[in-house]
Amino acid sequence: MRQVVVATTNSGKASEFAEILGSVATVVIPGELPLVAEGGASLADNAFLKARSAADYLGCDAVADDSGLFVAALGGEPGVHSARFAGPDCDDASNRAKLISKLGGVSDRSAYFETVLCVCAPSREMEDAAFFYGRCDGFITDRERGDFGFGYDSIFMPVDGDGRTFGEMTAREKATMSHRARAISHLRLWLAEGSQ
Ligand code: IMP
Repeated sequence: MRQVVVATTNSGKASEFAEILGSVATVVIPGELPLVAEGGASLADNAFLKARSAADYLGCDAVADDSGLFVAALGGEPGVHSARFAGPDCDDASNRAKLISKLGGVSDRSAYFETVLCVCAPSREMEDAAFFYGRCDGFITDRERGDFGFGYDSIFMPVDGDGRTFGEMTAREKATMSHRARAISHLRLWLAEGSQ
């Protein structure tokens, strides 16, 4: 079975890749990777920067992802800045608190998560890389609900769900509708078709 090297240090993401790609590829998680500044203007730019850096370091094709939360009432913010929304010393909790506060009194709560995956070979440019996209539409709640997940999970209620936030779903339930799972499923199809 072919191997797919996934450039991530997040064990939750690693399991999601392994679970969805498991029937078409063996997922390999590198022991160490160079740090990459996510300074790109788009999710695709950042996914490419991470995949290319890992491919150069490891000397083989690598897959990397970048995700963001796009809130309609904020003109798409935090978007590509989702990880650093509340400033340089932020964490998931301060990012969520800032978002809830900025949406205080706002009735349009619609938002979506997007993931972009990039598969890149060493020394290749962006136009030579392959990209896969996944999106999950939903709403920002007015308070935190649920202890599962990470990031903005406890304040994001997907439209395809049953009224619970991602933070109230198990990892398996979230993976039936999440942006990342959808993007990985597109990658799975591409691998299954033998594309390169
Ligand atoms: P990354 O590209 O996966 O590192 O994600 C960027 C930021 O988006 C993270 O710091 C999280 O705050 C947020 N994020 C990405 N994916 C998810 C998700 O599935 N649930 C909640 N937050 C997420």
